[in-house]
Amino acid sequence: METDVITIDGPTSSGKNSVGFLLAKKLGYQYIDTGMIYRAGAYLILQNNISLDNKEDIVNTFKSLRLEIKSDNGSLRIYNNGRDLTDKLHLSEVTENVSIVAAIKEVREVTKVIQRKLGESKNTVMTGRDIGSEIFPNAKHKFFLTASAEIRVKRRFKQLIKVDPAITYEMVYKSMLERDEKDSTREVSPLRIPKGAVVIDNSNLNVEQTVEEMLKHIQQKLFI
Ligand code: C5P
Repeated sequence: METDVITIDGPTSSGKNSVGFLLAKKLGYQYIDTGMIYRAGAYLILQNNISLDNKEDIVNTFKSLRLEIKSDNGSLRIYNNGRDLTDKLHLSEVTENVSIVAAIKEVREVTKVIQRKLGESKNTVMTGRDIGSEIFPNAKHKFFLTASAEIRVKRRFKQLIKVDPAITYEMVYKSMLERDEKDSTREVSPLRIPKGAVVIDNSNLNVEQTVEEMLKHIQQKLFI
């Protein structure tokens, strides 16, 4: 039986993860945050001191991934060969370098296979940057979440200040816009609004309200 995959794409801190998690919970679907896959690969590359110019070793690192993503107590955890990498994913060096690795065509070929397998195994809500355009272009329900840059920086700052009291609003602003720029202008699968996606600007919506809005669209389509 074909599985149902609901795709959610959008820039950094557009609320994809909280929204994806809650939407999946309400529908009884699994939730997959594909950013975790790129972050896990980037972490292992940095940990193994692989140079960011060494494309062959970077691609091989992604090829050797044996990932499992599990829902645990309101959040996701990611394991590689049984090793829990979740707490490493948001280290600042991972965040700073992940977009460089994610822009490599051969890396995306490997991650495409991983993502398709995950989505084909169960009904899924999947969030990322190219899910509705490249990974599941035929998905029945596609969303593109966004919010103003100011709101997105505020959200990110609120998260980061908890783990790094030295961080400033300006640092977050600069690094967020740089990452969005890299993700939107890369040659392979840039961040863009997928064909047929419903665009939701959630600058003035909380997570519950955003999910309600999405559920309305999903129900509407079921009756067409
Ligand atoms: O969503 P998150 O911020 O965790 O994603 C980290 C990075 O992984 C993004 O900035 C982007 O470079 C890359 N990514 C991607 N395609 C996806 C998901 C994430 O290129 N589907």
